[in-house]
Amino acid sequence: MAQNGEGKDSQNLRHQEVGHKSLLQSDALYQYILETSVYPREPEPMKELRELTAKHPWNIMTTSADEGQFLNMIIKLINAKKTMEIGVYTGYSLLATALALPEDGKILAMDINRENYELGLPVIERAGVSHKIDFREGPALPVLDELIEDDKNHGSFDFIFVDADKDNYLNYHKRIIELVKVGGMIGYDNTLWNGSVVAPPDAPMRKYVRYYRDFVLELNKALAADPRIEICMLPVGDGITLCRRVS
Ligand code: SAM
Ligand code: CA
Repeated sequence: MAQNGEGKDSQNLRHQEVGHKSLLQSDALYQYILETSVYPREPEPMKELRELTAKHPWNIMTTSADEGQFLNMIIKLINAKKTMEIGVYTGYSLLATALALPEDGKILAMDINRENYELGLPVIERAGVSHKIDFREGPALPVLDELIEDDKNHGSFDFIFVDADKDNYLNYHKRIIELVKVGGMIGYDNTLWNGSVVAPPDAPMRKYVRYYRDFVLELNKALAADPRIEICMLPVGDGITLCRRVS
């Protein structure tokens, strides 16, 4: 698809650089978005965290810079104050959220791995937004179950970003639909799952892509059929489905 006269090697290199972060057919087009609109406007701490994360062996998990910019804008557009994030890794989407929230905004952030969170934490602290974050180490489901038990948590979150174990997304949905407010928003990440949602079952796929694919397909069907939400599936990053709670 490259139409800018670049050689194949350069295209391959670019593709490796961006991994599966973009579903655009042309890597050059994705690079254009990054270089024209994203990197020049990326806050310094986010750049620092992105570069630090790029050196980590699991860097494929990080939120892409264009998606970080998107999350930051959505949070401002809906005037979110109280948010939740399931799946933090080194904190790129967390920092995008924290920077968008007002001074007294709050993020309940959950991850089974504290070590990776602590890699990014010094950057988040220097950015002056760590006071907005309540990090809980451990699996998210029991935390959600505990929150559900108290009626005052129901309908109390403005925005929830889900970016963790795809085989639990439907379990998360059952709970967070009660916790997000009517008119509030949930973002489910990776709902196009490396494009595998339309791949024939016998297509070559990385093992983890194949494993989680059925869960993503099931989630997408369930969200489309859920009358409590309005949805919008966007081909940003690896696909993000925005859900607005309506009842
Ligand atoms: N949002 C992150 C970012 O911007 O870099 C990326 C998150 S990464 C794709 C998924 C994360 O989910 C991993 O850090 C993993 O440790 C975490 N995770 C996996 N299973 C989990 C669970 N049951 N509860 C909470 N976090 C979980
Ligand atoms: Ca993701």
